[in-house]
Amino acid sequence: MSDTVVPNDKIRVRMAPSPTGFLHIGGARTALFNWLFAKHHNGQFILRIDDTDIARSTDESMHEIYTALKWLGLEWDEGGDKGGPYAPYLQSERKSIYDKYVKQLLENGNAYYCYCSTEELEAIRKEARSNKSTRSYDGRCRHISSETKERYVSEGRKPTVRIKMPDKPIRVDDIILGSRNIDPATLEDEVIVRSNGMPNYNLTSIIDDAEMQITHVIRGTEHLNNTPKQIAIANALGLHLPQFAHIPLVLDDSGRKLSKRHHGDLVAVNRYREQGYLPEAMLNFVARLGWSYDDKQEIFSVAELIEKFDLDRVGKSGSVFDIKKLEWLNAHYINELDVSARTDAVMPFWEQEGLVDSSTKRDWLEKIVEAVGERLTTLQDIILQTRYFFSDDFEYESKAVKKWWGSSDEKKEKTCEILTNLGQILQEVTEFDIETVESAIWRYTDENDIKRVAAMQAMRIALTGTSFGPSLFDIVVLLGRDEVLKRIQRAIAYLNVI
Ligand code: GLU
Repeated sequence: MSDTVVPNDKIRVRMAPSPTGFLHIGGARTALFNWLFAKHHNGQFILRIDDTDIARSTDESMHEIYTALKWLGLEWDEGGDKGGPYAPYLQSERKSIYDKYVKQLLENGNAYYCYCSTEELEAIRKEARSNKSTRSYDGRCRHISSETKERYVSEGRKPTVRIKMPDKPIRVDDIILGSRNIDPATLEDEVIVRSNGMPNYNLTSIIDDAEMQITHVIRGTEHLNNTPKQIAIANALGLHLPQFAHIPLVLDDSGRKLSKRHHGDLVAVNRYREQGYLPEAMLNFVARLGWSYDDKQEIFSVAELIEKFDLDRVGKSGSVFDIKKLEWLNAHYINELDVSARTDAVMPFWEQEGLVDSSTKRDWLEKIVEAVGERLTTLQDIILQTRYFFSDDFEYESKAVKKWWGSSDEKKEKTCEILTNLGQILQEVTEFDIETVESAIWRYTDENDIKRVAAMQAMRIALTGTSFGPSLFDIVVLLGRDEVLKRIQRAIAYLNVI
């Protein structure tokens, strides 16, 4: 570990997404670990946008990343759309800053122009491969004569700028992974400015980390190979180095790195929001991808995460993305909501489906939510669980019909008889509340030697189309007498024609 000691309230970390797509689970995890580290140490969390790759960066993606981070509650202290003392925070707006440093590198002899064409570079790469060299560029433009340079310029070649890698080992101190010495033979002179004049990630990243007074760089291990390059650049510029902490990969259940390329929108944070996952569940889930407090605790509130999070409990090996665990956590957090908050949470899903509008009575909706109880894994499940409350435009589930209504004429006739009698009873009960309805129905089944479950399921299918769901008496009372009678009639008519 580096021995730089940083006072807690001076800790500054950053997340630096490239806006070339949606925020994915790995990105959310990087954001969360940085945010938690900042909160735990009373420091600052900065959102910097790495958009120097102009061709691939879009405003749309940048805003999608903002939305996803805000949904997760990972608000930043500086950067993004917020500004701050080190503005601008979009790298595309900081080119003059990088130009200044590049000039310094060229002047102090730590960088040089490279005029090699794409074809020449390819030939050098091929040769390096056949010589089994660890470098795919041999640094030949370090030493070109002024005549050759003039010729290249007159040919109209647009140079890149390369950093001269040192010939001594580079020491990388990592809070999570420990220290390593990187053999200089494995590092080639990295392009730091492209031929179109745009600076590259390794240059801009370490310059901004220094300019923005970042104390700790916490990011995924996919950047591990970039770190020695960034250290070399910082050393060549005499910049102060942040401490590094590389967090292990997130893997799928077959051990493959979770990536946009292989897993598509399965890794997109917004997908989980749209499907009705709660931000608390996502945060809890993502926090446990690589960090653990002890072997037992799975449920952590945000406040607890802030209190308990530190880098010394981040493991070295990859962690597995287990969707079942996320579902379990989500159900847990949904169940934690009181009925009113749960109703608020499912409301957008009902509205989106066109089931509820401003004229729908709130207390009726709350009672429906209460009746559904702990049956929601995601908020989206509310649709499947409750659609029949809003409309009788449903089909009868064929398996349920076969099992509970019967397939022989005799059984169907018996079902019709039971439904008719139940309809009669429900028409006659004086009060249409759970207690009265329940005791009237039990009296009927018990006196006529009808199995309670058979009568219940027959009526449940008539009212909901399915054989599962909340308590039948809750459903009956919430639908109301007229609707129940209508649905019983509809079921009888259906039974008569099948
Ligand atoms: N733009 C890089 C990424 O999105 C940032 C890496 C870093 O944190 O330095 O992966």
